[in-house]
Amino acid sequence: MQQDGGVHDDPVVVTGAGGFIGGHLVGELRRRRHARIRAVDVKPFEQWFQRFPDADNRCLDLRRLDACHEAAAGARAIYNLASDMGGMGFIETHKAECMLSVLINTHMLLAARDAGAERYFYSSSACVYAADKQTTAAVTPLKEEDAYPAMPEDGYGWEKLFGERMCRHFREDFGLETRVARYHNVYGPHGTYDGGREKAPAAICRKVIAAKLAGAGEIEVWGDGRQTRSFMYIDDCLYGTCALMASDLHEPINLGSDELVTIDQLIDIVEEIAGVRLTRRYRLDAPLGVRGRSSDNARIHQALGWAPSTRLRDGMERTYRWIYDQMITPAARRRVYA
Ligand code: NAD
Repeated sequence: MQQDGGVHDDPVVVTGAGGFIGGHLVGELRRRRHARIRAVDVKPFEQWFQRFPDADNRCLDLRRLDACHEAAAGARAIYNLASDMGGMGFIETHKAECMLSVLINTHMLLAARDAGAERYFYSSSACVYAADKQTTAAVTPLKEEDAYPAMPEDGYGWEKLFGERMCRHFREDFGLETRVARYHNVYGPHGTYDGGREKAPAAICRKVIAAKLAGAGEIEVWGDGRQTRSFMYIDDCLYGTCALMASDLHEPINLGSDELVTIDQLIDIVEEIAGVRLTRRYRLDAPLGVRGRSSDNARIHQALGWAPSTRLRDGMERTYRWIYDQMITPAARRRVYA
């Protein structure tokens, strides 16, 4: 419900709010004048990337049903972004942990239903797409129907595909309006850039910055540098997420960029921002994921007029600057050079 002055007073819940996208989403909902936001994450508060004092911040383990009931109490809309995940380095080596996030979405759906919530958002992933559609670098952008016959990323992708189907059945059987976005590689400031869960854009920024600060002339690159991806800047992700939540689109839908680049081209961009040229040491035995992946946004563009608007170069510059600032703080410098 919207009050006079454009303030929304319906309780809205964001899970995974201590993480990258969840933290930005809380900020976006505040900008959209939501007055009652409950922000939930399992991490201790001091580890949240962003925390807003005017939100109802809670530290809860959402694998537990009782915690989900506490998180969902009184909510009208729920954005479930909590999940135990990371980049390829994490999901290839932590498949059981990734699949255990099924507890989070299952219990959050039950809690949303029991709380009488009207809308529920689930952050799915491009990792649901069938591997046999992503075997070449010159990939055809993935359409929503390419998720079936199912052959998703082992572990993480199966959990997301199952989560999508749980949402669908809660809508069909219990009348909970569910919305599902398949995010493709989201990047931006206020996210993980070290520690093992980071994804390629942040990892490359960190490596280039570390090499620059140390005066080293070389970085390690996972793979041969010719694998392709597309990367969506966080602002586009937030805009698309809010538009999807407000829409009547209940089938899973792509939210990603179609600006396809090789990893080498991504490094070129970061080197140019940093003002350095580095020798690349390619590690062919590193976790790689699929050979090529890009998002076909025709459906969401047609339905909602949504298309990403941030050029990779611009988004990477903002991301690089934020990571640089983090890395030159004394605590971060100790970590990088330890
Ligand atoms: P993130 O790791 O920064 O945030 C996820 C948050 O969930 C973390 O803060 C984590 O502490 C929290 N969490 C994990 N287990 C929890 C639990 N048991 N209870 C409560 N909170 C818990 O990741 P992100 O990049 O912000 O991703 C958000 C969502 O979007 C995830 O569901 C992810 O799978 C999905 N997604 C992200 C991308 C991407 O490129 N970032 C791509 C596809 C899908």
